[in-house]
Amino acid sequence: MVNYLHQISIFYYLLNEFCLQLNVKLLISRGMENINMLHTFFKALTFLLFSLSSLLPMGALAQTTTKAKLQLAITVDDLPDHGELPAGWTYEELSAKFLAAFKAHHLTGVYGFVNSHVINEDKPELLHILEEWHAAGQKLGNHTYSHMDFNSSSLKDFETDILKNEVILSKLAPPEEFKYLRFPFLSEGKTLQNFRDLRSFLKEHEYKVAPITADFHDWRWNDAFPRCVKHNRKAEIAQLKVKFIEKALKALVDAEKEMTGLFARPVKHIQLLHFGAFDAMMMDELLTAYEKAGVEFISLDEALQDPIFNESSPPTPDTLRDMTEKELGSIEHGKTEQRIDTDELAEEKEFDSYCKPSLSKLFSTKVKT
Ligand SMILES: [Zn+2]
Repeated sequence: MVNYLHQISIFYYLLNEFCLQLNVKLLISRGMENINMLHTFFKALTFLLFSLSSLLPMGALAQTTTKAKLQLAITVDDLPDHGELPAGWTYEELSAKFLAAFKAHHLTGVYGFVNSHVINEDKPELLHILEEWHAAGQKLGNHTYSHMDFNSSSLKDFETDILKNEVILSKLAPPEEFKYLRFPFLSEGKTLQNFRDLRSFLKEHEYKVAPITADFHDWRWNDAFPRCVKHNRKAEIAQLKVKFIEKALKALVDAEKEMTGLFARPVKHIQLLHFGAFDAMMMDELLTAYEKAGVEFISLDEALQDPIFNESSPPTPDTLRDMTEKELGSIEHGKTEQRIDTDELAEEKEFDSYCKPSLSKLFSTKVKT
């Protein structure tokens, strides 16, 4: 902006000089008065632009140094039933909390990825949760019928599970909306051949893959929370709340660093969350924290417009790492497995320790009975 103004003012300065020369040459001509007026006009304009361009740098600098907003699409897996709920809680309440938080933060088109086996085989009453989600302006996508793990199933079974889920999805949303696949467990295939075969199937059935770039294992909180409510551990619930926001923000910063490292530019992000009790309780706070951290919410469709999410380039860091290492050989892959296992085990141990009944309580209970 500043450079642009300088260039314009230099241009007018030169024009002014030209008018001056013309003025001298045409002193005795009939157009002298007009040339003089033009000269005065350009002189004033030049002065104005020079003044403006010297005043602007501070504002313009602030503008250019303001960090660009990190663009993030929120997505929610495992509708309409994700894990255990604290006693007395219902999925209806969960849904209401999610939808209220989205409304408060002006989020529409948030994808909820559905496993419909729950509705078909166990809880038909949960169908209206999907209806409400859709009616509130949010979207529904395919997470397979039975939450099948592609890394431990055959290609044929996995394809069948995707199509089976369409029976309910097609009653709730148009195909162009629900034909987005989120892989359960983010398992995109145990071999490159599996990965490629399924991509061909998805292309044939006009599906898009809904990958993720950011994940902080939010489901771990949903596992621990019912236990904390059961044992009325208010202090630990408070700890879990703080940790939830901290981990979410850190994971996003890490994802931004990792993706910028891979693609040498900021990319659009996709956040993985789950339809669980702790997520529902924290959703408003989480979205507020993201906003304060400079996040701009975008839809999944907008995120997928980033060229990193094209068919030939598996986008998630884990997928990229796994595929590359599988191609490089088993030794490197073995190392990665070991590293991930260590991290996961430490995390699992930490979350398992939340809200366990204390030994003294167990002992006193035992004595009483
Ligand atoms: Zn899932």
